[in-house]
Amino acid sequence: MGRGLTLREEGKSRVSISKGKDIARIVRQAITLVGGLEKLISSRARVLIKPNLSVALPAKTGVITDPRVVLALIQLVREAGAKEIMVGESAVVGFDAGAIFDALKVRSLFEKAGAKVVNLDQDQAVEVKIPKGEVLKKLKVCRTAYESDVIISVPKMKTHFQTGVTLSLKNMKGTVPDESKRIIHRIGVPVEKREEYGLDQAIVDLNTIISADLTVIDATISLEGFVPGPRLVGNPVRLDTIMAGFDPVAVDAVGCRVIGLDPREVRHIRLAYERKLGQMLLDEIEVVGRSVESVLHPLKTDIPKAAQVHENVTIIEGKGCSGCSVTNRLALSFFSPQDVENLGSLTLMVGDTASTDYPVKGRCFFIGNCSIRSNKGKKGRNIGGCPPPGLWIRKSLTGVAINCLGEIKGT
Ligand code: SF4
Repeated sequence: MGRGLTLREEGKSRVSISKGKDIARIVRQAITLVGGLEKLISSRARVLIKPNLSVALPAKTGVITDPRVVLALIQLVREAGAKEIMVGESAVVGFDAGAIFDALKVRSLFEKAGAKVVNLDQDQAVEVKIPKGEVLKKLKVCRTAYESDVIISVPKMKTHFQTGVTLSLKNMKGTVPDESKRIIHRIGVPVEKREEYGLDQAIVDLNTIISADLTVIDATISLEGFVPGPRLVGNPVRLDTIMAGFDPVAVDAVGCRVIGLDPREVRHIRLAYERKLGQMLLDEIEVVGRSVESVLHPLKTDIPKAAQVHENVTIIEGKGCSGCSVTNRLALSFFSPQDVENLGSLTLMVGDTASTDYPVKGRCFFIGNCSIRSNKGKKGRNIGGCPPPGLWIRKSLTGVAINCLGEIKGT
């Protein structure tokens, strides 16, 4: 069985845009505008709804898919008569989706609405060959996702420091186990080699074996700047907008235009188009409902190199993958503002900072193997790992002793 993206139907791909404050209404409107779910969902269909619930932060931060969008979709899929409805997620590396469902209190919400909640982090993995892979020839994916009949991808609209945006094509990364996410991100590959391996190509390779049959972009509140967390770098921006369509490349392309980006400049979307996985150009897409111009809201994509978010904490980010930068920021986000203040003056070095001229303030920590390698001989404390788990970072910052393997002593 294979369920990857193939070239969509001839002619234009249709993408709908709806806008308004009533989330259930605009989701329904967006789906109706592209022709409804009846063609897609039979009474035998096992449907997986794949939101972005990769971290336990409230929807108002713009980091995760708003649960109300998911609830609206569960209702529509029920009305279409699906045999089984699942909501599944595999969280960012080092986190567990089950714990995130519980922290967000969405498990019972989704179950009451008629869906089974699936922790894809605990799912069986199945190794799949990627015959048309450019950088990946095989990959382990979550069985539930691979064997579902229909996948509805519900990404949050966000800009991203590595891939420009994180929309439907990239949302599929949440259907694979951590081991595969590391491969996709090339976590552990030396920084100087990472470019040639290519996260963008890997995302497209993944979409040739597992991809969305329907994409619904949640741009009710979007995130500009890369990073998860309201106290970190990244601003939630209210757009009150939903976009939908059956061609994920086209929906992602329209999503880019809505936030002022040219999809041809977004490498993974352009590669997906060049590899004939969907449409991207304006004259190949029929936009229905609201026009792009009427909802246009350019988002900032510039990411500060050194983030002075907390007065006493300086983060220096060199070259590296998102593994360490995300884990580090998430680790910090679990401290209260008072806890952060109590840590005193800190400098956190992340990624390969060999060519960075940085002023160290207070205690210095080298977070992750890239940082440790590139700062050899410099004064500071190493927090090893690729990436180091958030708990090690937090324990280390608060002064709990850890040994060189990152194991916490006396806890
Ligand atoms: S040490 Fe960190 S930045 Fe370097 S490859 Fe591993 S996860 Fe990425």
